[in-house]
Amino acid sequence: MGKTYLRFWGVRGSYASPFATHLKVGGNTSCVEIRDGDHILLCDAGSGIIPFGNEMMAQVEIRELMIILTHYHWDHICGLPFFVPAFVPNWKINIFGPGQTKAEVKQNLDSQMQSPYFPVGTETWMADINYIPPTETNIKYGPITIIRHSVHHPGVTYGYRIKVADKTIIYVSDNECQYLDKSIKQRIGEFNAEEQEMFETMNREEYEYELKLISGADILIHDAQYTPEDYIKKRGWGHSCYIDTVNSAIDAGVRELYLYHHDPNNNDAAIDRIYSDCQKIIQERSASLICHIAREGMRIDLA
Ligand SMILES: [Zn+2]
Ligand SMILES: [Zn+2]
Repeated sequence: MGKTYLRFWGVRGSYASPFATHLKVGGNTSCVEIRDGDHILLCDAGSGIIPFGNEMMAQVEIRELMIILTHYHWDHICGLPFFVPAFVPNWKINIFGPGQTKAEVKQNLDSQMQSPYFPVGTETWMADINYIPPTETNIKYGPITIIRHSVHHPGVTYGYRIKVADKTIIYVSDNECQYLDKSIKQRIGEFNAEEQEMFETMNREEYEYELKLISGADILIHDAQYTPEDYIKKRGWGHSCYIDTVNSAIDAGVRELYLYHHDPNNNDAAIDRIYSDCQKIIQERSASLICHIAREGMRIDLA
């Protein structure tokens, strides 16, 4: 395998779940490494970034990397206080995330390491930490380009369109797809004919917009946290039912989909069932989508 690859270090949503029943899929929270030669891009800094950091400490060639954060919910930043390269001089760590100013991004990361929540603060980070202005829309890191967009999740949350080695990777860890559709259908009885028509138009436009955000993806890594039963209870929490994720990927013409941000309540057997159900949907729709379960440790060659 070459040096241009994608590797999943953490695939769970919400909280780490290192339970014996979950280890085929993996227990660490969101962290994906995208590597092109000496350039390393990390999507999110959940607990999966901890073993990645330890692996970095075992090599000497690379001393710089970039982290892009989708948002600041714990499952996406909880690995940073234990990310060893941040504590080591001669490392440079570039960080990008949502916010108005660099100071705000820094504050969001400082907060989780402040007393009484953690023994040492980010002032003990000896690496050169470079906060990229959050107003940037088009980010370049060596041969990798990154474009952000907002997704449907509480607070400001980004999805990222990443171009690397002629491949388009779209990373959307937390997103409730087809939210408007679900909201309208739930209340459809309350609307008169004219309102229904208006909402249908709105809904169609919104869905077209959502599809545009993921279209052209060679690889889509997308939130697929809920089963239909979970989704009924947690509509509005900002996560997708896997059925909607698969259907959206098919409608957008995505090539390969990695179901991601797995619910900690779902053990390996439950995620196997989700996978089988997704294959059934793809077959029934005679679609060419290739669908996988994102698993911790999985490495995909991008060359
Ligand atoms: Zn999350
Ligand atoms: Zn979140």
